Amino acid sequence: MILPIVAYGTPVLRKVAEEIDADYPDLKEFIANMYETMYNAGGVGLAAPQVGKSIRLFVVDAAPFEEDEPSLKNFKKVFINPIILEEKGQEWKFNEGCLSIPGIREDVSRKPTITIEYFDEKFKLKEETYEGIAARIIQHEYDHIEGVLFTDRINPLKRQLLKKKLSEIAKGNVEVKYKMRFPLKVK
Ligand SMILES: [Zn+2]
Repeated sequence: MILPIVAYGTPVLRKVAEEIDADYPDLKEFIANMYETMYNAGGVGLAAPQVGKSIRLFVVDAAPFEEDEPSLKNFKKVFINPIILEEKGQEWKFNEGCLSIPGIREDVSRKPTITIEYFDEKFKLKEETYEGIAARIIQHEYDHIEGVLFTDRINPLKRQLLKKKLSEIAKGNVEVKYKMRFPLKVK
C-alpha cells in the first residue's frame, strides 16, 4: 500500500523518533509499504517519520545509482534502531534531495565513511561500514529519525533564499507526482 508522504513543515519530521522492538505491530507489512511508497515516489531512501510514524526505522535502495557505482547493486536494506557509531574522513559535497521537500536540491557536506549498528527486518543485530553514496543515503535517512532535514545542513545564506519556497511546499503549492500530505494546505 502506498502511504502519503508528509511534507516539510509537518511536526513529525522534527521529532526525535522512538526505538521499536520485535513485537511492533504489523512490522512486516509496514516495511513492505515503506518500500512500495519509496519506489512509487522514485526515492532511494525513506524514513518512517516521512509517512507520519515517529519510529527509528528507514529503508534504502540505491539501485538508481548502480550505473555510477556498481557496488550499490544490492544496497537494499531496512535499518531498525540504528546507531551511527563513527563518521570519518574528509567532508565531501553531494547534491541531496528529499521526498518530503519536493523540487529542492542542494549540496550538503558530510563525511564519507560511516560505521553503523542496527537491527535488520528479522531483528538481527548488525554492524557495518559504508562509504560514498551508500553512506550518504544512510546519513540523510538517519537525520530524519533525529528530526533533522538536509535543508538544516546547507549554508545559512542559501537557507534564507529557500525560505519562501519551503513555506510554499508546506502549503502544498508545489508540483509533485506522488501522494503527499501538506501541513498548511487550505482545503
Ligand atoms: Zn529526506
